[in-house]
Amino acid sequence: MDRTKVDLPLLGGCVCRAVRYSLNGAPLLVYVCHCHDCQSVSGSAYILSVMVRGADLAMTGPVEIFTRRTRRARDVQYRVCAECRCGLTANYAESTDFTSLRAGSLDDASWAVPIAQTSVASAIPWAVIPGVEQVDPKAFDYRKLSAAWVATAPVFAHR
Ligand SMILES: [Zn+2]
Ligand SMILES: [Zn+2]
Repeated sequence: MDRTKVDLPLLGGCVCRAVRYSLNGAPLLVYVCHCHDCQSVSGSAYILSVMVRGADLAMTGPVEIFTRRTRRARDVQYRVCAECRCGLTANYAESTDFTSLRAGSLDDASWAVPIAQTSVASAIPWAVIPGVEQVDPKAFDYRKLSAAWVATAPVFAHR
């Protein structure tokens, strides 16, 4: 089967358009998180997360960073637009090597198909996605899931 081709860079930003970003490398993993933090921070049922290399993401505009400690006692940095407070990315404070980009902030997220969903225990019951593997947060292996996602993902390339 031919894999879909998606052009890089991938573009996106906040809802007021003061902050814009371009992603210049292929995403590494797309997954859904149903944890309470993701529900609270998104104001929705879950977050559809696109893992990327921090170095691949170039962001312009009035970005603010706030840090909070998760229920699992790790500090997470959220990048939000200082104007409209729209959340764009999250990463563990100890490392900016990898960043989780909110799929909804992409101009076109039609390629973003999750390979796994985690924290399903706290999911809003109807929001559990049929046919998407459920992974316990303690067993969530980014490296393994990333390899599996990349194997079926579109081919990302600069034109
Ligand atoms: Zn904004
Ligand atoms: Zn979460």
